[in-house]
Amino acid sequence: MGLPLALLLMLQHQPVIIVDGHIDTPQRMLDGKADISVRLPDGHVDVPRMKEGGLTAAFFSIWVDNTYGAGTAYRRALALIAAVRALADTAPDAELATTADDVRRAAARGHVAVLMGVEGGHAIENSLDKLDDLYARGVRYMTLTWNNGNDWAGSSMDPARAGGLSPFGRDVVRRMNALGMLVDVSHVSDSTFADVLATTTRPVIASHSSCRALAAHPRNLTDDQLRAIARNGGVVGINFFPVFLDDHFRAQYAELNRRLAPRFDSIRARYPGQPGLAGFEIDRFRAARLMEQRIVVPGLDRLVDHIEHAVQVMGVDHVALGSDFDGISVLPVPMKDATSLPLLAAALKARGYGDSDVRKILGENFLRVLSAAR
Ligand SMILES: [Zn+2]
Repeated sequence: MGLPLALLLMLQHQPVIIVDGHIDTPQRMLDGKADISVRLPDGHVDVPRMKEGGLTAAFFSIWVDNTYGAGTAYRRALALIAAVRALADTAPDAELATTADDVRRAAARGHVAVLMGVEGGHAIENSLDKLDDLYARGVRYMTLTWNNGNDWAGSSMDPARAGGLSPFGRDVVRRMNALGMLVDVSHVSDSTFADVLATTTRPVIASHSSCRALAAHPRNLTDDQLRAIARNGGVVGINFFPVFLDDHFRAQYAELNRRLAPRFDSIRARYPGQPGLAGFEIDRFRAARLMEQRIVVPGLDRLVDHIEHAVQVMGVDHVALGSDFDGISVLPVPMKDATSLPLLAAALKARGYGDSDVRKILGENFLRVLSAAR
């Protein structure tokens, strides 16, 4: 499985840098005490598997679940940040990165680079000081909402808070621009998206979003939105989750979720106050049921279709990867975890992308935008 990447390496005598815009591993590290410095039998990401798959750098998502709110959300973010920083401090072959140069230096040493992005703007509890503090602790993007909207930004999945940015929300975007923290528009409502693009003075990212023209999920980006991000100089990390890649699969998945809802509730009851762990357990349970019921999961080619569509609409300089590893229950067949990334590199080559374009999609575009954050 390592061969296609090895081939790429040989072609240009420079290490290929792969950057993943969004992985959900920190909850496992904090709530599940998972030591990802060693190879684990489950999940999608640990340091040995990052190295095996050629995953140079990943934005570890400081995801604050919507069960956290005023008085608890920020503390939750700090706990997740501490868990990620502890990994970077103690694992001999992982290092914290906050710049593109940090990532390249880590790659040159054969280390993996650990970046951080906060997911869910409610984490700042309506405080620009807390936003400043997150930046100081090494956070380099913030996804303005998760599936829940907040007091100042609407979410694509929250009908009660589906509007745009409030005046304070625009202040948040401006402060992020001033700090050099990337504004992430994954998850946000269409009107928040429009308000962000009208406000930001720096390139934005969609850290983990796919294409709505190919799959109608409201979490995905329309062609107009893709073009707006291209004009803005930003980048879209295409999400690997088959639910975001294919409408037929999404319908089957939703039906399965309806049937399994009581089982999910009993799993949640076993993990009080640990939504990340409960979610991870639910994902495992659901994945096993998908297998049992022989529901056909979209393949790697479908993921490449989304990448290719984004390239056609935006140009090759604006497309990247945002796997959502460890936050999703199933991957495009036959991917199984971070070690499967060479399959994706090979699939891009097989579609006719040249080495330079493959490098851009795998990591260089993300590094360019990280450098342009301020
Ligand atoms: Zn997400």
